Amino acid sequence: MEAPVLVLNANFEPLNVCNTRRAVCLIISGKADLVMNGRGYIQTVTRSIPIPSVIRLDQMIHRPRMHVRLTRREVFRRDNYTCQYCGRRSNNLTVDHVVPKHLGGTHTWTNVVTACPACNHRKGGRPLEECQMALLQVPREPPANAHYRFGRHLEHNDEWEQFIRGW
Ligand SMILES: [Zn+2]
Repeated sequence: MEAPVLVLNANFEPLNVCNTRRAVCLIISGKADLVMNGRGYIQTVTRSIPIPSVIRLDQMIHRPRMHVRLTRREVFRRDNYTCQYCGRRSNNLTVDHVVPKHLGGTHTWTNVVTACPACNHRKGGRPLEECQMALLQVPREPPANAHYRFGRHLEHNDEWEQFIRGW
């Protein structure tokens, strides 16, 4: 009952992910429709209920623009697991503040980049000009498109791909 279920807005826009228990409740209470089963059935005394993989809300929900949360993992993902100074791809990465925090640098998307430990050490808490290092690209806030938000679920739920594509 903890398996993830993709929740679509009334216009089929992917909204979020909930667990199976909540998805079944939404269906039974008439707030959502089953869009895709694919996981079998739950047997109750009186009937069998399809286990949803994707559901759609009956009522349109209006939500403000989504932002990607600033976490280490999302920074690495935005930068394609590549050190933004030397261009090396690695599993061993750190987050570097381009303008160091002790010099007033903020913890925001435009001031954090992925750095390998060697480059981070070489930079050593100095601003770029002082250490003669350059960034591969200007850091920006990544778009919170559906693929970005739900892409990590696709490995285990590839049937969601068709609902996420294009949003
Ligand atoms: Zn590096």
